[in-house]
Amino acid sequence: MAPAKPRADRWLWYASRTHRGVPLNPATYPSIIFDGQPRPFPDWVCKAPDGGLHVNHRVGRIDVEVAESPSSRIEFSWTHDYGVKIVARSWLSEIEDLIDPNRIFVGEVRRSGRSLDRWATIHEQYAPPLLSSDGRGKVCPICGDCYMTLWGRLYFPDPRVVGLPLIVNRNGVFVRDDLARERNLRRPSGAFKPTRVRFSRTTPPPVYRDGALPKGGSNGPSLKSIVRLFTKR
Ligand SMILES: [Zn+2]
Repeated sequence: MAPAKPRADRWLWYASRTHRGVPLNPATYPSIIFDGQPRPFPDWVCKAPDGGLHVNHRVGRIDVEVAESPSSRIEFSWTHDYGVKIVARSWLSEIEDLIDPNRIFVGEVRRSGRSLDRWATIHEQYAPPLLSSDGRGKVCPICGDCYMTLWGRLYFPDPRVVGLPLIVNRNGVFVRDDLARERNLRRPSGAFKPTRVRFSRTTPPPVYRDGALPKGGSNGPSLKSIVRLFTKR
C-alpha cells in the first residue's frame, strides 16, 4: 500500500499556558489611557475607532522593551500588554528554518536597553486569522486585525495558508503537522499540548452571514466579510 500523502492543510497549534505575561516597560513607551488606566502605547499598536488597542496587523518586526526578564522555566510566553509572542531561542532554533522572512519576523526582547539574547519575539505581518464556528469576531477597520472569540470548531478560512510551514498569529504559533512530526518537534515549556487545526472552506453558520453579526462595540463585519478581507488582500 502506498504511504499516505502528507497533508499540507493542518497544523499543530502551540499556545502559551502561562497566565502571567512579561510586562512591557511603561517608562520606555508613550502612554495612553485605556479603561481609566495608563497603558504603554508602542508605535506597533493600533487603536481601533471603538478604542480597542491591539498589535497593528501591518507591522513586521516587533522589538519590545520589558520591565522584567521572562521566566527561565518558560520557553513560550507573551507580552503584557498586547500579547506579542516571546519565545526562547532554545525552542525557536527548532523551527527557525521554517520562517519565511517576507512574512514572519523575529525581533529583540530588551531590558534596560540591552538585548536579552536567550529570547526573541516572533510576529507575522498580515497573519491569517484563526476563526471558529460559534465565536464572535470583529475586524479593525484601520489595520485589518481580526479578533475572534474561539468557540466551537476552529479553522483557517484563508486558502493561501495551505502549504505554509509556519503561521504566527494572535492565537499562537502553528507548525505544519507533517513537518512537526518529521522533526519530532517537542513542546516548548510553558505551552499547552498542541492541538491540530485545519484549513477549511466551510461556509460560516447563518448567524455570521452578512448583516447578521451582533452589533455593539464592533463595527459589525460578518465572518464572510472577514474571510473576504483575508482572501483578497
Ligand atoms: Zn487596528
